[in-house]
Amino acid sequence: MKKSLLKKYAELIVKVGANVQKGQDVQLYANVDQEDLANFVVAQCYKMGANYVTVNWMSDKISNTHYKKASVKALSYIPEWKLEKEKYINKTLPVAIFIESSSPDAMKGVNQAKLVKVNQAVYPILKPFRDERENKYQWVIVGAASKEWAKKVFPELPAKKAVDKLWEKIFETARCNGDPIKNWKEHNKNLEKHAQYLSSLDLDYLHYESSNGTDFKVWLMPDVKWAAGGEYTQGTHRFFNPNLPTEECFTSPWKGKAEGTVVSTKPLSYNGELIEDFSITFKNGKVVEVHAKKGEELLKHMISQDEGATMLGEVALVPYDSPINNTGILFYNTLFDENAACHLALGHAFTHLLKDYEKKSHKELIDYGFNDSSIHVDFMIGSKDLNITGYTRKGEKVQIFRNGNWAF
Ligand code: ZN
Repeated sequence: MKKSLLKKYAELIVKVGANVQKGQDVQLYANVDQEDLANFVVAQCYKMGANYVTVNWMSDKISNTHYKKASVKALSYIPEWKLEKEKYINKTLPVAIFIESSSPDAMKGVNQAKLVKVNQAVYPILKPFRDERENKYQWVIVGAASKEWAKKVFPELPAKKAVDKLWEKIFETARCNGDPIKNWKEHNKNLEKHAQYLSSLDLDYLHYESSNGTDFKVWLMPDVKWAAGGEYTQGTHRFFNPNLPTEECFTSPWKGKAEGTVVSTKPLSYNGELIEDFSITFKNGKVVEVHAKKGEELLKHMISQDEGATMLGEVALVPYDSPINNTGILFYNTLFDENAACHLALGHAFTHLLKDYEKKSHKELIDYGFNDSSIHVDFMIGSKDLNITGYTRKGEKVQIFRNGNWAF
């Protein structure tokens, strides 16, 4: 990929995504195949006055080997220095930048039951640290083309061409063409308009219907807003865009209040493996039945992670005619595919959407109705003929989606 384009992308990531401020520390996470982009990101961070940028290198190949060869006990062990790092991060609240280039089936051949066991052992230890820093720091997750991922998306192309094409699509969907800073100003404004309208409706519940079999109702909590695009850090009030790209308006649904069946419309890459053509049925807000043509076992492992993994943490609306869906490409990557279709997420909910959430403890927020889990997995249910009807707390009926797109 042309260095000038990577540099432009790095500028977008650091300025618009992370919004790095003078004197801030940065933790950058990237796979070893992304040295060039990571290098431009580091340079851009310093240009904006960052104090120190720590680069955390990762490798799918080595992670795969670890999960295959090491014992559950070894994989579940958290050394003292890692806990010290968590403490240090909570004290200094560095900006986090995640460059995502993993292959959708990076964990192929790994025993998923083993992954579940390791997560169950590790998560309770790390969770208090994560809860403590939630909403308090800027972070951003962005895509980057690797050979393995590109081959999955464009199997008909030779490797180099596939990588170039994936980059092109990443830049396009991240609005990195022309003047990216201006693009994002406009885009955020537009998204915000939709989110504000949805919030103003004070919706009690949504009813989804599609000819593929989706017939589903989900209830929403009072005083929990819809959000889109950028958000602010708690206390320091710094604006950042956690996802590049983003096209969704989303909210956190009421834990334990969902009924009916949703049918997937795109494959889901989870823990480095694919789940395809699946449906999920809810009763009293909990998953009671799942079916999948491919990856059903994996889907079952996913929801067995903890109690919260069987309940919803996100409801997101994305028009069928979104720029990402219009590329006609299936990215096999949630960051992109979730922004191409209406979706739900099982697991952890976004607590910052509640009015005056800063004044409440984590426990109070959970008691209010936010779901808590070690997972947050988006899955796509948007289709061409999806209709969504909203029912307000005053008992009015409002058409939200008609034939896959915004009805207002
Ligand atoms: Zn989402």
